Amino acid sequence: MTAIYNLRTDGLNHRITKFIDGNVESSYLVAPNQCTCPRSAHPTCRHRQMLPELLARNLLDSPLFWDFDRKVSCDMNGNVMRITVPMKDEYLEGIQQRVDTAHWNLTGK
Ligand SMILES: [Zn+2]
Repeated sequence: MTAIYNLRTDGLNHRITKFIDGNVESSYLVAPNQCTCPRSAHPTCRHRQMLPELLARNLLDSPLFWDFDRKVSCDMNGNVMRITVPMKDEYLEGIQQRVDTAHWNLTGK
């Protein structure tokens, strides 16, 4: 079964949760250069790779999910849900602003 992910606001951070067959598999706080998953000591991991992909597609706090392997947004059952609304400049600026102002320190220090 395909693993799918969603992205949620968690306080001042972002949380990526992995689902398999509709059940939560794992869930981690993630930032561009930090992640709380078992690969946190590595230079990167799939959560850090998918964070900008999810933000760029407005999947933050969205009802849709992300299929990392296929690079498509989908519903809970893995059915592809293509986003057809064109992105406006002010919309993309908003995403960048959110990335710039987010509290990226996951350790709470
Ligand atoms: Zn990770």
